[in-house]
Amino acid sequence: MSPETAFHLYVHWPYCRSKCGYCDFASYVPRQAWDPAKFVAAYRADIAALRARTGARELGSVFFGGGTPSLAEPAVIGAVVEAAMAAWEPRGDCEVTLEANPGTVDKARLRALRDAGVNRLSVGAQSFDAASLKALGREHSVDDTKHALTWAHDIFDRLSFDLITARPGLSLALWEDELAEALAFAGEHLSIYQLTVEDGTPLARAVAEGRVTMPDEETGAEIFEATRRILAAAGRPAYEVSNFARPGAACRHNLGIWRGADYGGVGPAAHGRLTLEEGRFATRHAPDVHAWLKGPPAPRMEPLDAEERAREHLMMALRLTEGVATPGFAARFADAGFADPRELMNRDALDEAVGLGLMVSDDAGVRATEAGVLLLNALTARLLD
Ligand code: SF4
Repeated sequence: MSPETAFHLYVHWPYCRSKCGYCDFASYVPRQAWDPAKFVAAYRADIAALRARTGARELGSVFFGGGTPSLAEPAVIGAVVEAAMAAWEPRGDCEVTLEANPGTVDKARLRALRDAGVNRLSVGAQSFDAASLKALGREHSVDDTKHALTWAHDIFDRLSFDLITARPGLSLALWEDELAEALAFAGEHLSIYQLTVEDGTPLARAVAEGRVTMPDEETGAEIFEATRRILAAAGRPAYEVSNFARPGAACRHNLGIWRGADYGGVGPAAHGRLTLEEGRFATRHAPDVHAWLKGPPAPRMEPLDAEERAREHLMMALRLTEGVATPGFAARFADAGFADPRELMNRDALDEAVGLGLMVSDDAGVRATEAGVLLLNALTARLLD
């Protein structure tokens, strides 16, 4: 069964040790120690309520994100994995990913997480440069990262880590050196995100006050292109704008979502997309941790009409190297009146992008070229205008 037909579960852990200067995720620094038993009870109740909505499904993956889920006790993680596996029907290769921050794990904890059912670790390395970690407000050191990755290689078959690029002060030469160092610790997969300045964050204030200067567009583009070239040469080509993997080693959870699969979210602020008898819904839990711990309130369920669903699918699928496949799109949306992704696109914009060598449009579908990926946000905005 292909990943997009499976159901995926996202589990949100809300706490971090400190708040990074660029972060606008739903993460909080707890004011007091949490009670693991309360988390287990709330996750179990949330999973039971979600199972009642979804009915029986094949479970393709579980993804623990946050926040910093490596702060959660392995017993909590194990209880959630067990509840998920009992609620749905796990595929034989069901992927269970946990995001771990360096400095929050040691060898024993990583082993305990593996024994709890985690079979893929995603480490929030973010940078191999000490000054950059400090500037980003990360609390871990480069040594913490190297230790965590070294242990993780011994303990997990499937390993990824995140890096943040296009950081203040970053040049192409510095980035190439850093990426070479990072690759020495790489597993099968890397996620490399451009630093974005989110409203309301300390980083946004620092940029607005001129205390921090972001790399200019040209440097950002050079870094982006170099990253793709270097990782392809290292056997981990891009399969999505920010994600790179050895063949067959893509994150099945995220790939499923980008291909339009259903996913349910449990935990405060978790969101999902569910196809139910009544239609497809965007679901979102309220972010209040204490209210959720008392007994998870039902998520907000927002119905998505056929055009919203199809446009959302296009926006996500165009980020993939494989692009939007016409047969898959038709199978998903023909009953809603869309047999071809191009029916939803601005044809003049598509023809122009194809003429400029930025997009390919053929019988297989529509996808960005290597030159087009760099301009993907602008291209997608024009195509779906
Ligand atoms: S560790 Fe991640 S979720 Fe937590 S504050 Fe930093 S960026 Fe945000």
